[in-house]
Amino acid sequence: LGRRINSAFQDLSKVPTVDAASIDQLLKSVCNALIEADVNVKLVANLRSQVKAQVTALLNDKANANWTDAQRRQRVQKAVFDHLVALVDPQHGQTKTEDDSGAVVAAGNAGPGDIFKPKKGKPNVIMFVGLQGSGKTTSCTKLALYYQKRGFKTGLVCADTFRAGAFDQLKQNASKINVPFYGSYTETDPVAISAAGVASFKQNRFEVIIVDTSGRHKQEQELFDEMREIDAAVTPDLTIMVLDANIGQAAEAQSRAFKEAAGYGAIIVTKLDGHAKGGGAISAVAATSTPIMFIGTGEHAADLEPFRAQPFISKLLGMGDISGLMDKMEEMQMNGGQERQQEMLKKIGEGGVFSIRDWREQLSNIMGMGPLSKIAGMIPGMGQMLSGAGGDDEAAGSKMKRMMFITDAMTAEELDSDGRMFTAPIRSKKPPAESKELAIAESSTAAGKSKKKKKPQPKMRMTARARRVARGSGTSVREVEEFLMQYRMVGGMVKRFGGKDGFLRQMGMGG
Ligand code: GDP
Ligand code: MG
Repeated sequence: LGRRINSAFQDLSKVPTVDAASIDQLLKSVCNALIEADVNVKLVANLRSQVKAQVTALLNDKANANWTDAQRRQRVQKAVFDHLVALVDPQHGQTKTEDDSGAVVAAGNAGPGDIFKPKKGKPNVIMFVGLQGSGKTTSCTKLALYYQKRGFKTGLVCADTFRAGAFDQLKQNASKINVPFYGSYTETDPVAISAAGVASFKQNRFEVIIVDTSGRHKQEQELFDEMREIDAAVTPDLTIMVLDANIGQAAEAQSRAFKEAAGYGAIIVTKLDGHAKGGGAISAVAATSTPIMFIGTGEHAADLEPFRAQPFISKLLGMGDISGLMDKMEEMQMNGGQERQQEMLKKIGEGGVFSIRDWREQLSNIMGMGPLSKIAGMIPGMGQMLSGAGGDDEAAGSKMKRMMFITDAMTAEELDSDGRMFTAPIRSKKPPAESKELAIAESSTAAGKSKKKKKPQPKMRMTARARRVARGSGTSVREVEEFLMQYRMVGGMVKRFGGKDGFLRQMGMGG
């Protein structure tokens, strides 16, 4: 999906003027990509007409007559971006941003604590629903750890009597994080178990009581009946539906059916650490107007993150998760107090160049932080490239190593440069396919240059210098080109927005 939308944006960056016809073309490509990614057709049609109306009004406004094409392009992209964000964030515009410990988790978004805040000293019952295999038991454990860390006395109830070994799985998970659990090897009625488990934890003054359910039955109707009965027995304060990010087109029907049966108030989207872009989650949220509370980003108990709409959409569009990357960079700084890191940020804050050497430094720090596949996904353009290569830690590691080899083959002068010396403009009208991705990088930094350059940017080709680096590093010109593209996207953003806060504010993520 990211690739297709990017290529739609890229087509837009090729046309000399941004007019009604080219906007139609862009919207058509974006909508086709969204439909292919299993976003509901009606939703996509709405997005299309709304964005079109908004953009047309903006571009026809006389006050904006002197916008450059780069500015017009940026407006169209931003309109698409904002509409996608609004789709996954039904509470968009609410600016409360705390989790239940009071920490700000996401500016401009509802945070977990806005969706649900357990009351101290009282029993808060949370019930999980979702299909078998979606990640319920794993997510129950993650949520138990989350609340336990925040000082709530937390317990887990296993009401999955359907799958053999379900209780053992929960027991094992719970023991690992030292959370008390309740279940039975002999009782086969999930309603009886959940009622007894919740009652027992209530008696012992537990504050957060999490009920895991089975999610599978011979008949769908029986499953939904079971949900209703458990719901009636434990009267949860919050029901959470767990949705596998790989669900695809079934997301809408499934989320509606569970909504009817269990009336859940929040969604957890799991397995967003893999290749899944989570397109189905958009349909689920829109179909049920239910917010996503957390995302699951791994198999371990700590792999639970508060949902943030903007980074989610950025990733969906293949734009990378710059705010996540910035967080990691900051974390590195805090951990080691790296002087170089501070120097670099200071230099950039003062308007200096984010050089290839700086990017190399960031990369090498990042490589020490692991897990690589997760971090690589935050680098613009990297996620897509990796999903072609398996998308795992190993693939990410070898990709990053090759990026380091490329910098090893550069001279000091090249490392201290902004990389422009590796490219030269192409005169001919039709650029070779190879320079396609570079065009994205250039359009993404075009806004900063728009005041100076009124004409569209010339297409670029790789120079002999780039070929020398490819040879010297044992990589290909294509890889050098990719390296430069990523460097430019990261560098362009870091520099243009002068650090995290500036960037977030610019993208409407700041407070
Ligand atoms: P349940 O049947 O709904 O209870 O699903 P489980 O919790 O047993 O999870 C099914 C599988 O998905 C297990 O192998 C989990 O380790 C895996 N899983 C769950 N959540 C995540 C996640 O966020 N990321 C990854 N990579 N795997 C997950
Ligand atoms: Mg389970």
